[in-house]
Amino acid sequence: VGLIVVNTGGGKGKTTAALGIMLRACGYNMRGVMIQFIKGSWFYGEKKSLSRLSPNFRLITAGKGFVGILDDKLPKEEHQRAAKEALDIAVDEVRNKDNDIVVLDEINYAIHLGLISEVEVISMINQKYPTVHLILTGNFATEQIINLADTVTEMKEIKHAYQKGKKAQIGIDY
Ligand code: ATP
Ligand code: MG
Repeated sequence: VGLIVVNTGGGKGKTTAALGIMLRACGYNMRGVMIQFIKGSWFYGEKKSLSRLSPNFRLITAGKGFVGILDDKLPKEEHQRAAKEALDIAVDEVRNKDNDIVVLDEINYAIHLGLISEVEVISMINQKYPTVHLILTGNFATEQIINLADTVTEMKEIKHAYQKGKKAQIGIDY
């Protein structure tokens, strides 16, 4: 039976843990998709390396870049539209019994930012085909989603290089 897995918390490792599961599952020739809810305009390694897991795993980037920080010049409505689009795709993917694993990256954070509603996300979860494993990542997972999930991990930051002024490292951070 398909599990609902949540990777949340303020420490590093939420997305990479989900990618690790995809890598592991690929070893059994399992299939699925990662849908990125927020990051879309920057380059990150998994964009290319997931294509090496093709055709088993796909990456769909619907997000419009980093919301509200750095070079974000887009109005919130643009981000909302992109996140809603990602959620519509997610509904199709979780209902598709050909998928073994569906990863919804940063979906928790998208709810936290008000880009999509918790109600819509729970409705998506409830439409999941029973055998599909669903992984939801992002900080600030809501109580209701945590309650619905089977496995919930909170990445707890002990320290992060960024705090010492060490910039994001290729292959490690992106
Ligand atoms: P990763 O993709 O490395 O698993 P993540 O998914 O847990 O990280 P995100 O919030 O998606 O965390 O952030 C992605 C980027 O931000 C990565 O470059 C990561 O190293 C960095 N990052 C994660 N947590 C922190 C933190 N507590 N402080 C500073 N940077 C962080
Ligand atoms: Mg992440």
